[in-house]
Amino acid sequence: MSIVSPMTRVLKADEIGIAPHNAPRLLLPDPRTVFQQRARRLHYLADGHDLAAWLLFCHALSLAQGRLVDRVQIEDGEAQASLSLALTERSWGYWQALLAELIGATTHSPHSPPTQVGKGLTLEALALVKTLQAWPKATWQTQAQALLLGEDGVTPEAAPFLGAALQVEWTLRASQLPTAIHAAYQGESAVCPVCGSHPMVSLVHTGDPNHGVRYLVCTLCQSQWQAARAKCTNCDSPKEVVLLGPSEKAPIQGECCEVCQSYVKLLSLPREVQLDPCADDLATLGLDVMLEQEGYGRAARNLLSAY
Ligand SMILES: [Zn+2]
Ligand SMILES: [Zn+2]
Repeated sequence: MSIVSPMTRVLKADEIGIAPHNAPRLLLPDPRTVFQQRARRLHYLADGHDLAAWLLFCHALSLAQGRLVDRVQIEDGEAQASLSLALTERSWGYWQALLAELIGATTHSPHSPPTQVGKGLTLEALALVKTLQAWPKATWQTQAQALLLGEDGVTPEAAPFLGAALQVEWTLRASQLPTAIHAAYQGESAVCPVCGSHPMVSLVHTGDPNHGVRYLVCTLCQSQWQAARAKCTNCDSPKEVVLLGPSEKAPIQGECCEVCQSYVKLLSLPREVQLDPCADDLATLGLDVMLEQEGYGRAARNLLSAY
């Protein structure tokens, strides 16, 4: 992709929509659709993109995530009152199942280039998957816990696989939470009120009942929480944020705070209804580079890129 420069201040922050009283404060994820939609969007965005190989790899990962949640049966009584950033007994199983899904999906196609096996996974990536399959449980636990908590020491090549497996588990768990949790959440926060992880992007919705309402999207459990006020979601400074983007009409902008010098990408569905929080975040790495050149640091995480 190409980014047009110079960066343009496109909107005043107070133009970000104020939520109508009937807009839900919290949106729990639907694991049956979230990974499939992501995979479709990644495939679309990869066409002609500078980062096509990377996006197709993430497409393969998302397809594997989607197949995995389709296979999982959540039993009655498994629903929990809340989530935390601690591995469970099941976490290891999701890791192994995800890697097995990726290997299972990579049968050679006669139409693929020689370095590509199946749906976007290169021979190099397949070799890495097989290496990761041999990791002992203790290594996996140390790495997964470090990624969950945002600590150093995560093997960079393993991070997307770790992140994908953790997303499957937490998204399934979040989808099973009792609906009473909606009422329990009363205010915006820099971390996910469901699981305590970080936002990936913020997303302005379209359609009733939350048209124009801004939500932060969790990078781990895919829940969304309302953050409608025009202030920095990272430091809560009362000073207005500014939106910087490649053009005035661009559907993806950086929401930048002059106080803590950080940004979170703002994706506008009213401007582009096909946007996907994870896929479009990954496909706009160029915007991250430009915002960092402007002096802002990223205050959001994407578990598939470890960015
Ligand atoms: Zn979450
Ligand atoms: Zn701030």
